[in-house]
Amino acid sequence: MSDIELIPESLRGLLLEHYRAHKRDLPWRHTRDPYHIWVSEIMLQQTQVKTVLPRYNVFLEQFPDVATLASVPEETVCEAWAGLGYYRRARNLHRGANFVVEELGGVMPTTAKALEKLPGVGRYTAGAIASIAFGEESPLVDGNVVRFFARLFGLPGDKESPALKKRLWILAEELVKGEAPGDLNQALMEQGATICTPTSPSCGVCPVSEFCVAFGEGEPEKYPAPSKKKTRKKLHIAFGWHHTKTGIWLEQRDLEGLWPGLWELPSAEGSTEREALGALADRVALGEEAPIAEVRHQLTHRDVTATVYALSKRPNNRADGDARRYAIPLKAPLSALARKAIVAVQSQQLGR
Ligand code: SF4
Repeated sequence: MSDIELIPESLRGLLLEHYRAHKRDLPWRHTRDPYHIWVSEIMLQQTQVKTVLPRYNVFLEQFPDVATLASVPEETVCEAWAGLGYYRRARNLHRGANFVVEELGGVMPTTAKALEKLPGVGRYTAGAIASIAFGEESPLVDGNVVRFFARLFGLPGDKESPALKKRLWILAEELVKGEAPGDLNQALMEQGATICTPTSPSCGVCPVSEFCVAFGEGEPEKYPAPSKKKTRKKLHIAFGWHHTKTGIWLEQRDLEGLWPGLWELPSAEGSTEREALGALADRVALGEEAPIAEVRHQLTHRDVTATVYALSKRPNNRADGDARRYAIPLKAPLSALARKAIVAVQSQQLGR
């Protein structure tokens, strides 16, 4: 049997019916404006709905259309992105807005293929925008859909395996064909987010449980097979702390690598704490030897430990003087790690 023959005829109708009756009332579900949907999809990448909710309307009030977004400096967009993390998304959104204005006469692309040319827009996001805004029958597969389909169709294989993903895209491509492809795609997202959840799926209220292989086997959480664990690397960062009444001395990170373009305390990296400290001492004047704070942070594949040391004087300016300055941290787009480190030092100083 081909994968497409796995799809029961009534599946599409059941998903649509359930979605329309029970969908969450989310602000981006009240629009078909492709720019607004683009913003919501980018905000929702790796970020929970509850985090995006307070930011979405505020962002659109500040940048109501693609031309306004393109007209401001990148830093203004990053500042408006505060609280959402993963600032690379804000920078890509800004670059994409400039591309739309400069290359497309300010008109958003209308097909998934064309949308994929925008920076930061992959196949999933392009499928979401094209189907919701323009009614194109463009499929989408994300982590939620992987889980839902793997269980529904009883598909074996590690959830990261290219072979499983290929099968899932074929199934999604078939299922999206027909009336209201945008609603159908949102029904898939909603199903994975609210019913077919990673643990304890709500099979009792699932509209398609009668067809579900995993449910029939009595062990829904068996699918999809977990991906093989990768060993996490460790990274040590030494930060330098120097402040005056004007603010804390911050530096902008390079535009490539970790936290591209964000601001932080002067830093150096190493595979051990000693190595990171040595690298920091090579370029700034350290004060006391004992650290004043330590914080930990998890990245997707790395565990980061950052130790903060007081500096005896302000670091030198570089030729690119704009990338270094005294600042009030709350007003600068900081990396999440730098924010944690600054809060830790300030708490120490307040004796908390
Ligand atoms: Fe997921 Fe349960 Fe529905 Fe199957 S029956 S799709 S496991 S929620």
